[in-house]
Amino acid sequence: MGLYDELVKIVGNKYCSDKDFICVAYSRGLDPCLPEIIPQIAIRPESTEQVAEIIKVANKYNTPILPRGGGCGLMGGSKPISKDTLLIDLTRMDKIIDIDEENHTVTVQCGINWSRLNAVLFDKGFYTGNMGPGSGLNASIGGGLSHHSGGGGGCAKYGKCSENCIGLEVVLGTGEVIRLGSQENRYVEKPFVRLALGPDLMGIFLGDNGIMGIKTMATMKIYPKPPYFSGKTFYIKEQTYENAQKIVLEMKKKGWSRELGIYDFFFTPPPAVMGITTDKLIETWGEIKGGVIFYVTEAFDEKVLERNSEILASIAEKYSTRELGPSANEGNITDWYYGEQGHWQVYHPLFSICGPNYFACTTEVIVPVSRFPEILYKLDKWEEEKYEELLDAEAEAGTSHIVMLNHNSCYIGSGLTATTDEDLKEEVIRLWKEQFELLLKAGGVIYMCGQIGSQVLVDSRIYDDRFYNFLKKVKNLVDPNNIISSGKFRF
Ligand SMILES: Cc1cc2nc3c(=O)[nH]c(=O)nc-3n(C[C@H](O)[C@H](O)[C@H](O)COP(=O)(O)OP(=O)(O)OC[C@H]3O[C@@H](n4cnc5c(N)ncnc54)[C@H](O)[C@@H]3O)c2cc1C
Repeated sequence: MGLYDELVKIVGNKYCSDKDFICVAYSRGLDPCLPEIIPQIAIRPESTEQVAEIIKVANKYNTPILPRGGGCGLMGGSKPISKDTLLIDLTRMDKIIDIDEENHTVTVQCGINWSRLNAVLFDKGFYTGNMGPGSGLNASIGGGLSHHSGGGGGCAKYGKCSENCIGLEVVLGTGEVIRLGSQENRYVEKPFVRLALGPDLMGIFLGDNGIMGIKTMATMKIYPKPPYFSGKTFYIKEQTYENAQKIVLEMKKKGWSRELGIYDFFFTPPPAVMGITTDKLIETWGEIKGGVIFYVTEAFDEKVLERNSEILASIAEKYSTRELGPSANEGNITDWYYGEQGHWQVYHPLFSICGPNYFACTTEVIVPVSRFPEILYKLDKWEEEKYEELLDAEAEAGTSHIVMLNHNSCYIGSGLTATTDEDLKEEVIRLWKEQFELLLKAGGVIYMCGQIGSQVLVDSRIYDDRFYNFLKKVKNLVDPNNIISSGKFRF
Protein backbone atom coordinates (compact mmCIF):
# COMPACT_ATOMS: atom_id res chain seq x y z
CA MET A 1 0.00 0.00 0.00
CA GLY A 2 1.33 3.48 -0.89
CA LEU A 3 0.65 6.91 0.63
CA TYR A 4 -2.62 7.47 -1.21
CA ASP A 5 -4.10 4.09 -0.27
CA GLU A 6 -3.11 4.49 3.35
CA LEU A 7 -4.84 7.86 3.46
CA VAL A 8 -8.00 6.51 1.82
CA LYS A 9 -8.06 3.85 4.51
CA ILE A 10 -8.28 6.63 7.14
CA VAL A 11 -10.99 8.88 5.66
CA GLY A 12 -12.61 6.81 2.88
CA ASN A 13 -12.61 7.35 -0.88
CA LYS A 14 -14.95 10.28 -0.84
CA TYR A 15 -12.71 12.51 1.24
CA CYS A 16 -9.32 11.92 -0.30
CA SER A 17 -8.32 12.86 -3.82
CA ASP A 18 -5.29 13.10 -6.06
CA LYS A 19 -7.32 14.26 -9.07
CA ASP A 20 -6.12 17.47 -10.71
CA PHE A 21 -9.56 19.02 -10.91
CA ILE A 22 -9.89 18.74 -7.11
CA CYS A 23 -6.29 19.51 -6.14
CA VAL A 24 -6.00 22.57 -8.37
CA ALA A 25 -8.60 24.36 -6.25
CA TYR A 26 -6.21 24.10 -3.32
CA SER A 27 -3.36 25.71 -5.23
CA ARG A 28 -4.96 29.14 -4.97
CA GLY A 29 -5.22 31.86 -2.41
CA LEU A 30 -6.28 35.49 -2.64
CA ASP A 31 -3.00 36.99 -3.82
CA PRO A 32 -2.40 37.32 -7.57
CA CYS A 33 1.26 36.46 -7.76
CA LEU A 34 2.68 33.84 -5.40
CA PRO A 35 3.20 30.49 -7.17
CA GLU A 36 0.10 28.32 -7.55
CA ILE A 37 1.45 24.90 -6.66
CA ILE A 38 -0.96 22.00 -6.93
CA PRO A 39 -0.78 19.62 -3.94
CA GLN A 40 -0.30 15.93 -4.72
CA ILE A 41 -3.27 14.94 -2.53
CA ALA A 42 -6.08 16.79 -0.76
CA ILE A 43 -7.73 15.13 2.23
CA ARG A 44 -10.73 16.10 4.38
CA PRO A 45 -10.69 14.46 7.84
CA GLU A 46 -13.64 14.67 10.20
CA SER A 47 -12.04 13.96 13.58
CA THR A 48 -8.92 14.56 15.65
CA GLU A 49 -8.15 10.84 15.47
CA GLN A 50 -8.16 10.95 11.69
CA VAL A 51 -5.86 14.00 11.67
CA ALA A 52 -3.44 12.18 13.98
CA GLU A 53 -3.45 9.09 11.74
CA ILE A 54 -2.88 11.23 8.63
CA ILE A 55 0.14 12.89 10.22
CA LYS A 56 1.63 9.56 11.20
CA VAL A 57 1.27 8.33 7.62
CA ALA A 58 2.76 11.58 6.26
CA ASN A 59 5.77 11.06 8.54
CA LYS A 60 6.18 7.51 7.27
CA TYR A 61 6.41 8.79 3.67
CA ASN A 62 8.25 11.99 4.64
CA THR A 63 5.52 14.02 2.93
CA PRO A 64 5.04 17.72 3.73
CA ILE A 65 1.58 18.63 4.95
CA LEU A 66 -0.30 21.90 4.90
CA PRO A 67 -3.38 22.64 7.04
CA ARG A 68 -6.05 24.74 5.37
CA GLY A 69 -9.24 26.23 6.81
CA GLY A 70 -11.42 28.55 4.73
CA GLY A 71 -8.49 29.29 2.41
CA CYS A 72 -9.00 33.05 2.82
CA GLY A 73 -5.42 33.84 3.84
CA LEU A 74 -4.04 36.76 1.88
CA MET A 75 -0.32 36.02 1.91
CA GLY A 76 -0.03 32.53 0.51
CA GLY A 77 -0.35 30.84 3.90
CA SER A 78 -2.84 28.19 2.87
CA LYS A 79 -1.43 27.22 -0.50
CA PRO A 80 1.37 24.69 -0.91
CA ILE A 81 4.99 25.69 -1.14
CA SER A 82 6.18 22.32 -2.53
CA LYS A 83 4.61 20.04 -5.14
CA ASP A 84 4.54 16.88 -3.05
CA THR A 85 2.32 18.56 -0.39
CA LEU A 86 -0.49 16.66 1.27
CA LEU A 87 -3.11 19.33 1.85
CA ILE A 88 -5.39 18.84 4.87
CA ASP A 89 -8.68 20.67 4.39
CA LEU A 90 -10.19 21.04 7.87
CA THR A 91 -13.62 22.40 6.94
CA ARG A 92 -15.37 19.08 7.55
CA MET A 93 -14.40 19.43 11.18
CA ASP A 94 -17.11 22.00 11.86
CA LYS A 95 -19.02 20.69 14.87
CA ILE A 96 -20.03 22.71 17.89
CA ILE A 97 -19.12 20.40 20.76
CA ASP A 98 -20.42 22.39 23.71
CA ILE A 99 -21.96 25.73 24.56
CA ASP A 100 -21.59 26.40 28.27
CA GLU A 101 -24.00 29.24 29.09
CA GLU A 102 -23.00 29.31 32.77
CA ASN A 103 -19.26 29.50 32.26
CA HIS A 104 -19.49 31.52 29.05
CA THR A 105 -17.48 29.23 26.78
CA VAL A 106 -17.98 27.46 23.49
CA THR A 107 -15.98 24.45 22.34
CA VAL A 108 -15.79 23.75 18.62
CA GLN A 109 -13.93 21.77 16.04
CA CYS A 110 -11.54 24.20 14.39
CA GLY A 111 -12.93 23.95 10.85
CA ILE A 112 -16.18 25.76 11.70
CA ASN A 113 -16.49 29.28 10.32
CA TRP A 114 -17.13 32.41 12.40
CA SER A 115 -20.53 33.27 10.97
CA ARG A 116 -22.07 29.84 11.44
CA LEU A 117 -20.80 29.66 14.99
CA ASN A 118 -22.11 33.12 15.81
CA ALA A 119 -25.48 32.44 14.18
CA VAL A 120 -25.96 29.63 16.70
CA LEU A 121 -24.69 31.76 19.58
CA PHE A 122 -26.91 34.75 18.66
CA ASP A 123 -29.98 32.54 19.10
CA LYS A 124 -28.88 31.99 22.69
CA GLY A 125 -28.09 35.68 23.32
CA PHE A 126 -24.30 35.27 23.05
CA TYR A 127 -21.50 36.09 20.63
CA THR A 128 -17.78 35.47 20.41
CA GLY A 129 -17.04 39.18 21.03
CA ASN A 130 -14.21 39.32 18.56
CA MET A 131 -15.97 37.99 15.47
CA GLY A 132 -12.81 36.75 13.76
CA PRO A 133 -11.58 38.24 10.49
CA GLY A 134 -13.49 40.27 7.91
CA SER A 135 -13.69 37.03 5.90
CA GLY A 136 -15.64 35.36 8.71
CA LEU A 137 -18.45 34.17 6.42
CA ASN A 138 -15.95 31.60 5.20
CA ALA A 139 -12.82 31.72 7.34
CA SER A 140 -12.46 29.14 10.10
CA ILE A 141 -11.72 29.40 13.81
CA GLY A 142 -8.50 27.41 13.20
CA GLY A 143 -7.34 29.87 10.53
CA GLY A 144 -8.22 32.81 12.77
CA LEU A 145 -6.31 31.43 15.74
CA SER A 146 -3.33 30.68 13.49
CA HIS A 147 -3.32 34.31 12.33
CA HIS A 148 -4.33 36.19 15.51
CA SER A 149 -7.21 37.40 13.36
CA GLY A 150 -9.42 40.36 14.06
CA GLY A 151 -11.17 42.94 11.98
CA GLY A 152 -14.45 41.13 11.43
CA GLY A 153 -16.01 42.89 14.41
CA GLY A 154 -15.27 43.64 18.04
CA CYS A 155 -11.53 44.36 17.91
CA ALA A 156 -11.74 47.60 19.86
CA LYS A 157 -13.47 45.85 22.75
CA TYR A 158 -12.22 42.26 22.63
CA GLY A 159 -8.86 42.46 20.82
CA LYS A 160 -7.68 39.70 18.51
CA CYS A 161 -9.43 36.33 18.48
CA SER A 162 -6.56 34.48 20.11
CA GLU A 163 -6.96 36.69 23.20
CA ASN A 164 -10.33 35.00 23.64
CA CYS A 165 -9.09 31.42 23.27
CA ILE A 166 -8.96 29.48 26.52
CA GLY A 167 -8.60 25.88 25.42
CA LEU A 168 -6.87 24.22 22.51
CA GLU A 169 -6.40 20.70 21.20
CA VAL A 170 -3.48 20.31 18.80
CA VAL A 171 -2.09 17.41 16.81
CA LEU A 172 1.70 17.76 16.74
CA GLY A 173 3.99 16.92 13.84
CA THR A 174 4.55 13.50 15.39
CA GLY A 175 0.83 12.67 15.42
CA GLU A 176 0.60 13.10 19.21
CA VAL A 177 -2.49 14.92 20.47
CA ILE A 178 -2.15 17.48 23.27
CA ARG A 179 -4.63 19.66 25.11
CA LEU A 180 -3.68 23.08 26.44
CA GLY A 181 -5.25 25.33 29.07
CA SER A 182 -7.15 24.00 32.08
CA GLN A 183 -7.27 20.54 30.47
CA GLU A 184 -3.59 20.17 31.25
CA ASN A 185 -5.11 18.90 34.50
CA ARG A 186 -6.28 15.40 33.59
CA TYR A 187 -9.11 15.72 36.14
CA VAL A 188 -10.66 18.80 34.51
CA GLU A 189 -13.78 17.80 32.64
CA LYS A 190 -14.28 20.88 30.47
CA PRO A 191 -11.92 23.72 29.48
CA PHE A 192 -12.57 26.93 31.38
CA VAL A 193 -9.35 28.97 31.64
CA ARG A 194 -6.22 29.44 29.56
CA LEU A 195 -3.48 30.03 32.14
CA ALA A 196 -3.33 26.75 34.00
CA LEU A 197 -0.73 24.31 35.31
CA GLY A 198 2.51 26.08 34.49
CA PRO A 199 3.85 28.15 31.60
CA ASP A 200 1.39 29.27 28.95
CA LEU A 201 2.34 26.81 26.22
CA MET A 202 -0.88 27.50 24.31
CA GLY A 203 0.74 30.67 23.01
CA ILE A 204 3.16 28.61 20.94
CA PHE A 205 0.27 27.51 18.76
CA LEU A 206 -1.59 30.83 18.56
CA GLY A 207 -0.57 33.07 15.67
CA ASP A 208 1.82 30.30 14.53
CA ASN A 209 0.61 30.55 10.92
CA GLY A 210 0.05 26.82 10.92
CA ILE A 211 3.64 25.70 11.53
CA MET A 212 3.48 24.18 15.02
CA GLY A 213 0.66 21.66 14.71
CA ILE A 214 -2.89 21.14 13.50
CA LYS A 215 -5.51 22.79 15.69
CA THR A 216 -8.41 20.42 15.91
CA MET A 217 -10.52 21.76 18.78
CA ALA A 218 -10.73 25.18 20.45
CA THR A 219 -12.59 26.61 23.39
CA MET A 220 -13.42 30.29 23.10
CA LYS A 221 -14.86 32.78 25.57
CA ILE A 222 -18.38 33.84 24.73
CA TYR A 223 -20.15 36.97 25.95
CA PRO A 224 -23.78 37.98 26.39
CA LYS A 225 -24.59 40.19 23.40
CA PRO A 226 -25.73 43.64 24.54
CA PRO A 227 -29.20 44.48 23.20
CA TYR A 228 -28.50 48.15 22.41
CA PHE A 229 -26.02 49.71 20.04
CA SER A 230 -25.47 52.92 18.19
CA GLY A 231 -22.77 54.21 15.92
CA LYS A 232 -21.71 57.26 14.02
CA THR A 233 -19.76 57.98 10.87
CA PHE A 234 -17.70 61.16 10.54
CA TYR A 235 -15.85 62.67 7.65
CA ILE A 236 -12.58 64.34 8.68
CA LYS A 237 -11.92 67.36 6.53
CA GLU A 238 -8.28 68.16 7.19
CA GLN A 239 -5.18 66.75 8.87
CA THR A 240 -6.99 63.48 8.73
CA TYR A 241 -4.29 61.24 10.19
CA GLU A 242 -3.63 63.56 13.14
CA ASN A 243 -7.27 64.28 13.83
CA ALA A 244 -8.25 60.60 13.66
CA GLN A 245 -5.50 59.89 16.16
CA LYS A 246 -6.58 62.72 18.48
CA ILE A 247 -10.13 61.37 18.51
CA VAL A 248 -8.91 57.88 19.42
CA LEU A 249 -6.54 59.13 22.11
CA GLU A 250 -9.23 61.24 23.73
CA MET A 251 -11.76 58.39 23.63
CA LYS A 252 -9.13 56.09 25.14
CA LYS A 253 -8.48 58.60 27.91
CA LYS A 254 -12.19 58.72 28.70
CA GLY A 255 -12.42 54.96 29.14
CA TRP A 256 -12.80 53.48 25.61
CA SER A 257 -14.66 50.15 25.86
CA ARG A 258 -14.77 49.77 29.61
CA GLU A 259 -16.46 53.12 30.18
CA LEU A 260 -17.89 54.05 26.80
CA GLY A 261 -18.78 50.61 25.42
CA ILE A 262 -16.80 51.07 22.19
CA TYR A 263 -17.05 47.86 20.19
CA ASP A 264 -15.27 48.88 16.99
CA PHE A 265 -13.50 51.93 15.63
CA PHE A 266 -12.33 52.22 12.00
CA PHE A 267 -10.48 54.92 10.15
CA THR A 268 -10.40 54.96 6.35
CA PRO A 269 -7.75 57.34 4.98
CA PRO A 270 -8.48 59.80 2.15
CA PRO A 271 -7.17 57.80 -0.87
CA ALA A 272 -9.29 54.77 0.08
CA VAL A 273 -12.29 57.03 0.66
CA MET A 274 -11.72 58.47 -2.82
CA GLY A 275 -11.66 54.93 -4.26
CA ILE A 276 -14.91 54.14 -2.47
CA THR A 277 -16.67 57.32 -3.62
CA THR A 278 -15.33 57.18 -7.20
CA ASP A 279 -16.64 53.64 -7.61
CA LYS A 280 -19.83 54.61 -5.75
CA LEU A 281 -19.35 51.64 -3.39
CA ILE A 282 -21.06 53.66 -0.68
CA GLU A 283 -23.27 55.98 -2.68
CA THR A 284 -24.41 57.95 0.36
CA TRP A 285 -20.87 59.23 0.88
CA GLY A 286 -21.31 61.33 -2.26
CA GLU A 287 -18.07 62.93 -3.37
CA ILE A 288 -16.40 63.63 -0.05
CA LYS A 289 -12.66 64.09 -0.10
CA GLY A 290 -11.10 63.35 3.25
CA GLY A 291 -10.78 60.58 5.79
CA VAL A 292 -13.72 58.77 7.36
CA ILE A 293 -14.03 57.32 10.85
CA PHE A 294 -16.84 55.25 12.18
CA TYR A 295 -17.39 53.66 15.55
CA VAL A 296 -19.97 51.47 17.23
CA THR A 297 -20.80 51.45 20.91
CA GLU A 298 -22.98 48.87 22.62
CA ALA A 299 -24.69 48.70 26.02
CA PHE A 300 -27.06 46.66 28.16
CA ASP A 301 -29.00 49.74 29.19
CA GLU A 302 -30.62 52.30 26.88
CA LYS A 303 -29.78 55.26 29.09
CA VAL A 304 -26.13 54.22 29.35
CA LEU A 305 -26.03 53.95 25.57
CA GLU A 306 -27.48 57.43 25.19
CA ARG A 307 -24.95 58.92 27.59
CA ASN A 308 -21.99 57.15 25.95
CA SER A 309 -23.14 58.14 22.45
CA GLU A 310 -23.26 61.78 23.49
CA ILE A 311 -19.77 61.69 25.02
CA LEU A 312 -18.31 59.96 21.97
CA ALA A 313 -19.94 62.34 19.49
CA SER A 314 -18.82 65.37 21.45
CA ILE A 315 -15.22 64.13 21.22
CA ALA A 316 -15.42 63.37 17.49
CA GLU A 317 -16.99 66.75 16.74
CA LYS A 318 -13.96 68.61 18.14
CA TYR A 319 -11.53 67.55 15.45
CA SER A 320 -12.47 69.05 12.11
CA THR A 321 -15.22 66.56 11.45
CA ARG A 322 -18.60 66.63 9.79
CA GLU A 323 -21.10 63.93 10.63
CA LEU A 324 -22.24 61.69 7.80
CA GLY A 325 -25.67 60.92 9.09
CA PRO A 326 -27.27 60.36 11.49
CA SER A 327 -29.27 58.13 9.14
CA ALA A 328 -27.94 55.50 6.74
CA ASN A 329 -29.27 57.60 3.82
CA GLU A 330 -26.92 60.36 4.86
CA GLY A 331 -23.87 58.10 4.97
CA ASN A 332 -23.84 56.56 8.44
CA ILE A 333 -22.83 52.97 7.72
CA THR A 334 -22.95 51.70 11.29
CA ASP A 335 -26.46 50.20 11.24
CA TRP A 336 -25.40 48.08 8.31
CA TYR A 337 -22.01 47.35 9.88
CA TYR A 338 -23.27 46.15 13.26
CA GLY A 339 -27.01 45.62 12.97
CA GLU A 340 -26.92 43.75 9.66
CA GLN A 341 -23.62 41.94 10.25
CA GLY A 342 -21.88 44.04 7.61
CA HIS A 343 -18.66 43.63 9.60
CA TRP A 344 -18.10 40.43 7.64
CA GLN A 345 -18.54 42.24 4.35
CA VAL A 346 -16.73 45.49 4.90
CA TYR A 347 -13.50 44.35 3.23
CA HIS A 348 -15.03 42.78 0.17
CA PRO A 349 -15.75 46.14 -1.50
CA LEU A 350 -12.32 47.40 -0.46
CA PHE A 351 -10.71 44.48 -2.26
CA SER A 352 -12.72 45.26 -5.38
CA ILE A 353 -11.89 48.97 -5.57
CA CYS A 354 -9.38 48.46 -8.36
CA GLY A 355 -11.66 46.46 -10.61
CA PRO A 356 -12.19 42.84 -11.60
CA ASN A 357 -8.73 42.25 -13.10
CA TYR A 358 -6.81 43.33 -10.05
CA PHE A 359 -6.16 41.46 -6.82
CA ALA A 360 -4.71 42.43 -3.50
CA CYS A 361 -1.24 41.77 -2.16
CA THR A 362 -1.91 42.64 1.44
CA THR A 363 0.48 43.88 4.10
CA GLU A 364 -1.03 44.26 7.55
CA VAL A 365 0.90 45.42 10.58
CA ILE A 366 0.08 46.30 14.16
CA VAL A 367 1.54 49.57 15.46
CA PRO A 368 1.05 51.56 18.68
CA VAL A 369 -1.71 54.16 18.41
CA SER A 370 0.85 56.85 19.23
CA ARG A 371 2.64 56.13 15.93
CA PHE A 372 0.03 55.42 13.29
CA PRO A 373 0.03 58.87 11.58
CA GLU A 374 3.82 58.79 11.29
CA ILE A 375 3.76 55.30 9.78
CA LEU A 376 0.98 56.24 7.37
CA TYR A 377 3.12 59.17 6.16
CA LYS A 378 6.03 56.74 5.64
CA LEU A 379 3.78 54.55 3.52
CA ASP A 380 2.60 57.55 1.49
CA LYS A 381 6.20 58.65 0.94
CA TRP A 382 7.22 55.16 -0.15
CA GLU A 383 4.32 55.09 -2.59
CA GLU A 384 5.43 58.43 -4.08
CA GLU A 385 9.04 57.31 -4.38
CA LYS A 386 8.01 54.05 -6.01
CA TYR A 387 5.61 55.69 -8.43
CA GLU A 388 7.50 54.68 -11.61
CA GLU A 389 8.26 51.16 -10.41
CA LEU A 390 4.64 50.60 -9.41
CA LEU A 391 3.51 51.92 -12.77
CA ASP A 392 5.85 49.51 -14.60
CA ALA A 393 4.51 46.63 -12.52
CA GLU A 394 0.93 47.77 -13.23
CA ALA A 395 0.43 47.88 -9.47
CA GLU A 396 -0.97 50.47 -7.13
CA ALA A 397 -0.12 50.88 -3.47
CA GLY A 398 -2.37 52.19 -0.76
CA THR A 399 -3.77 51.94 2.74
CA SER A 400 -7.36 50.83 2.97
CA HIS A 401 -8.18 50.96 6.67
CA ILE A 402 -6.89 51.31 10.21
CA VAL A 403 -8.66 49.31 12.89
CA MET A 404 -8.32 50.13 16.57
CA LEU A 405 -7.52 47.30 18.95
CA ASN A 406 -8.51 47.00 22.59
CA HIS A 407 -5.51 48.39 24.42
CA ASN A 408 -2.76 50.56 22.97
CA SER A 409 -2.48 49.61 19.33
CA CYS A 410 -4.17 49.44 15.97
CA TYR A 411 -3.59 47.61 12.75
CA ILE A 412 -2.91 49.18 9.42
CA GLY A 413 -4.34 47.38 6.39
CA SER A 414 -2.35 48.32 3.34
CA GLY A 415 -0.76 46.66 0.35
CA LEU A 416 -0.67 46.62 -3.41
CA THR A 417 -3.19 45.78 -6.04
CA ALA A 418 -1.76 43.95 -9.01
CA THR A 419 -2.74 41.94 -12.07
CA THR A 420 -2.21 38.22 -12.56
CA ASP A 421 0.01 38.95 -15.59
CA GLU A 422 2.79 36.30 -15.49
CA ASP A 423 5.46 38.71 -16.74
CA LEU A 424 4.85 41.16 -13.92
CA LYS A 425 4.65 38.75 -10.99
CA GLU A 426 8.29 38.84 -10.02
CA GLU A 427 8.34 42.63 -9.88
CA VAL A 428 5.09 42.76 -7.89
CA ILE A 429 6.48 40.28 -5.36
CA ARG A 430 9.63 42.40 -5.02
CA LEU A 431 7.60 45.54 -4.31
CA TRP A 432 5.28 43.67 -1.98
CA LYS A 433 8.27 42.42 0.06
CA GLU A 434 9.72 45.92 0.09
CA GLN A 435 6.51 47.31 1.57
CA PHE A 436 6.53 44.63 4.28
CA GLU A 437 10.12 45.43 5.08
CA LEU A 438 9.39 49.14 5.30
CA LEU A 439 6.57 48.59 7.78
CA LEU A 440 8.53 46.12 9.88
CA LYS A 441 11.60 48.33 10.00
CA ALA A 442 9.35 51.21 11.00
CA GLY A 443 8.55 49.16 14.10
CA GLY A 444 5.33 47.40 13.08
CA VAL A 445 4.65 43.73 13.82
CA ILE A 446 2.88 41.26 11.56
CA TYR A 447 0.53 38.60 12.79
CA MET A 448 -0.77 37.09 9.56
CA CYS A 449 2.47 36.12 7.83
CA GLY A 450 1.63 33.46 5.26
CA GLN A 451 4.35 32.45 2.89
CA ILE A 452 5.63 35.89 1.92
CA GLY A 453 5.53 37.65 5.30
CA SER A 454 7.19 34.78 7.13
CA GLN A 455 10.00 34.72 4.60
CA VAL A 456 10.51 38.51 4.79
CA LEU A 457 10.90 38.19 8.57
CA VAL A 458 13.84 35.86 8.06
CA ASP A 459 15.37 37.15 4.79
CA SER A 460 15.34 40.81 5.86
CA ARG A 461 16.74 39.88 9.25
CA ILE A 462 13.81 41.40 11.11
CA TYR A 463 13.90 38.68 13.75
CA ASP A 464 16.17 39.08 16.70
CA ASP A 465 18.63 36.18 16.12
CA ARG A 466 18.22 34.84 19.65
CA PHE A 467 14.46 34.65 19.20
CA TYR A 468 14.69 33.00 15.79
CA ASN A 469 17.05 30.31 17.15
CA PHE A 470 14.66 29.65 19.99
CA LEU A 471 11.75 29.42 17.52
CA LYS A 472 13.70 26.85 15.48
CA LYS A 473 14.27 24.74 18.60
CA VAL A 474 10.60 24.84 19.54
CA LYS A 475 9.57 23.94 15.98
CA ASN A 476 11.99 21.03 16.03
CA LEU A 477 10.52 19.78 19.27
CA VAL A 478 6.89 19.75 18.07
CA ASP A 479 7.61 18.75 14.47
CA PRO A 480 10.97 16.93 14.36
CA ASN A 481 10.72 15.95 10.68
CA ASN A 482 9.61 19.48 9.70
CA ILE A 483 6.64 18.23 7.76
CA ILE A 484 4.04 20.82 8.82
CA SER A 485 3.91 23.92 6.59
CA SER A 486 7.55 23.48 5.64
CA GLY A 487 8.95 26.45 3.73
CA LYS A 488 7.29 29.08 5.89
CA PHE A 489 9.63 31.07 8.14
CA ARG A 490 12.35 29.36 6.07
CA PHE A 491 11.89 26.12 8.04
C1 LIG B 1 -12.38 39.63 2.30
C2 LIG B 1 -11.30 39.25 3.28
C3 LIG B 1 -11.23 39.92 4.48
C4 LIG B 1 -10.24 39.58 5.41
N1 LIG B 1 -10.21 40.25 6.58
C5 LIG B 1 -9.31 39.92 7.53
C6 LIG B 1 -9.30 40.58 8.78
O1 LIG B 1 -10.12 41.44 9.04
N2 LIG B 1 -8.39 40.19 9.70
C7 LIG B 1 -7.50 39.17 9.46
O2 LIG B 1 -6.72 38.82 10.36
N3 LIG B 1 -7.47 38.56 8.28
C8 LIG B 1 -8.35 38.90 7.31
N4 LIG B 1 -8.37 38.23 6.12
C9 LIG B 1 -7.38 37.16 5.91
C10 LIG B 1 -7.86 35.74 6.33
O3 LIG B 1 -9.12 35.51 5.82
C11 LIG B 1 -7.91 35.53 7.83
O4 LIG B 1 -6.65 35.71 8.38
C12 LIG B 1 -8.54 34.22 8.30
O5 LIG B 1 -8.47 34.14 9.71
C13 LIG B 1 -8.00 33.00 7.70
O6 LIG B 1 -8.82 31.93 8.08
P1 LIG B 1 -9.00 30.69 7.12
O7 LIG B 1 -9.81 29.68 7.82
O8 LIG B 1 -9.45 31.12 5.79
O9 LIG B 1 -7.49 30.19 7.08
P2 LIG B 1 -6.62 29.71 5.87
O10 LIG B 1 -6.39 30.80 4.91
O11 LIG B 1 -7.13 28.43 5.35
O12 LIG B 1 -5.26 29.43 6.65
C14 LIG B 1 -4.55 30.47 7.24
C15 LIG B 1 -3.32 29.91 7.93
O13 LIG B 1 -3.70 29.13 9.04
C16 LIG B 1 -3.28 27.79 8.89
N5 LIG B 1 -4.38 26.98 9.38
C17 LIG B 1 -5.69 27.02 9.01
N6 LIG B 1 -6.41 26.19 9.77
C18 LIG B 1 -5.55 25.60 10.64
C19 LIG B 1 -5.69 24.64 11.68
N7 LIG B 1 -6.87 24.13 12.00
N8 LIG B 1 -4.58 24.27 12.36
C20 LIG B 1 -3.37 24.80 12.07
N9 LIG B 1 -3.19 25.70 11.10
C21 LIG B 1 -4.26 26.10 10.40
C22 LIG B 1 -2.95 27.63 7.42
O14 LIG B 1 -1.94 26.68 7.20
C23 LIG B 1 -2.50 29.01 7.05
O15 LIG B 1 -1.16 29.19 7.39
C24 LIG B 1 -9.31 38.56 5.13
C25 LIG B 1 -9.39 37.88 3.91
C26 LIG B 1 -10.37 38.22 3.00
C27 LIG B 1 -10.44 37.47 1.73
